[in-house]
Amino acid sequence: RAKLRGRNRSHHFSPDMADALYRKMTLRHHLTLALEAEAFELYYQPIVDMTTQQLKGFEALIRWHDEELGQVSPAEFIPLAEETGQIVPLGKWILKTACKQLSVWREKFGKGFIMSVNLSRAQLQSSLAPTIESLLLRYNIPPSQLALELTESTMLQEYDDAKQCLDDLASLGLELYLDDFGTGYSSLSQLQDLPISTVKLDQSFVQGEHKGSQAIIEATRAICEKLDLRVVAEGVETQEQLDYLKSCRFDYCQGYFLGRPMPAHEHEERNFTLQHTAVV
Ligand code: C2E
Ligand code: MG
Ligand code: MG
Ligand code: MG
Repeated sequence: RAKLRGRNRSHHFSPDMADALYRKMTLRHHLTLALEAEAFELYYQPIVDMTTQQLKGFEALIRWHDEELGQVSPAEFIPLAEETGQIVPLGKWILKTACKQLSVWREKFGKGFIMSVNLSRAQLQSSLAPTIESLLLRYNIPPSQLALELTESTMLQEYDDAKQCLDDLASLGLELYLDDFGTGYSSLSQLQDLPISTVKLDQSFVQGEHKGSQAIIEATRAICEKLDLRVVAEGVETQEQLDYLKSCRFDYCQGYFLGRPMPAHEHEERNFTLQHTAVV
């Protein structure tokens, strides 16, 4: 933002830009140290099956607490790690940690849920499918229990290469979710062209931030039904939102109302009970 404003106003380097740049440089430096120290943690947020009102699975979400900087949001450091290429080793750590957790939970809590992991565009390389395949073997996980989440915009550049990688992943038997649906730049044809099983409708629609939010929610549901795709509503924060999504026959819901992202041990202590056991 500072860059844009700076460009519009003048060619001088503004204090805003200096602050932003300094923050970026600091983060970059600390990120390097954090990678070496593996100073990250995964939190897990439940995804609820609306038909059974049971847990469908968990989405793994990275957390970084830096001693000096405090808690840094993934919305801030993931884009930075994408810029520097650090997302590749970081992404490997995320995948390994999520798979390890999944194998522990399979033993403890049964085998009926899916772990979904967010992927960045830079991770879509030809080596990804073999890497994941060996993780599945190492942790004895059936591929159908692992899902990967991708945003629409990640598909923009070098579409054919990305598609090849997704096809490889899908042929391993993994599920692919299209994340933040409705906010990116994808064409609807991607829904058919890519091996996607599930669409995650962006939380801004669920929270009514757009003029036609309800129309978009209903249209998304209809498209997914016609294309035989499952659909998850993200960012459910109230009973009212949940009731509405239920009436639209959404397959799955996720949001603070149903459960916040939490560290693994907290889910274990709660025995996986959902925040709102009476979902409807
Ligand atoms: P996302 O994948 O769309 O994840 C959903 C975000 O919404 C998460 O934010 C989650 O904590 C938040 N959220 C969930 N329910 C609610 C709700 O009811 N209300 C509101 N207001 N927010 C809710 P988080 O954890 O800060 O992550 C932000 C983004 O950072 C993620 O969006 C994803 O794009 C990226 N990210 C997070 N973890 C990873 C990761 O391990 N790898 C990669 N590549 N990206 C990640
Ligand atoms: Mg996601
Ligand atoms: Mg999302
Ligand atoms: Mg998002």
